[in-house]
Amino acid sequence: MRVLLVEDNPELVSLLVKGLSQGGLAADSVGTVGDARLALVAMKYAAIVLDLGLPDEDGLALLREMRRKGDATPVLVLTARDGVTDRVTGLREGADDYLAKPFAMEELVARLQALLRRPGTLLGRKLTFGNVSLDTEGRQVSVGGLAHAFPARETAVLEIFLRRGGNVAPKRLLEDHLFGLSGEVGSNAVEVYVHRLRKMLSDAGATVKIHTVRGVGYLMVEEKS
Ligand code: CA
Repeated sequence: MRVLLVEDNPELVSLLVKGLSQGGLAADSVGTVGDARLALVAMKYAAIVLDLGLPDEDGLALLREMRRKGDATPVLVLTARDGVTDRVTGLREGADDYLAKPFAMEELVARLQALLRRPGTLLGRKLTFGNVSLDTEGRQVSVGGLAHAFPARETAVLEIFLRRGGNVAPKRLLEDHLFGLSGEVGSNAVEVYVHRLRKMLSDAGATVKIHTVRGVGYLMVEEKS
């Protein structure tokens, strides 16, 4: 599997290439958004590691472009900025995960491998896991092929789970996503929305369940009957 690294710091690039190769991942690297565009035309990558602060354009411009074209390649965003805003913007623009610099190489490799293992089919704008799917454009939730009206925030939480496709969704990621939708989020907001989402999914006959992973976050799994 081949990964595209879009990062302009040469020292970080050489560390990343080495770290990824130890994790069994081959990487091509480019240092600008312009070169990344060319690389993406030339080659189909299994995933992209995308820095946001690049010399020619903001990394988010590339992400936005890819998603607009229906390119669903998993993208892990690297950000030096530690504000919540960047993470929220990244997720809204279609990033699958993010990591704030500085980060441990093991963590980057683990997160990338999780994205690559993701069983959920991500075709265009439709995210699916088990018998649950979400049209990310029309915000329509379907369970077992039937349309259901889920409120905006429950849908936002569901979207994160579907994007994680069988990997743990850290609580922080869910919090950031909820923060992006409303200015005020109470300390137990994530618990509240996950609880409501669980009930809605179960009432609708979903084949997925959300487990709590203590101290970490939540995990959506498919229940095999
Ligand atoms: Ca940079």
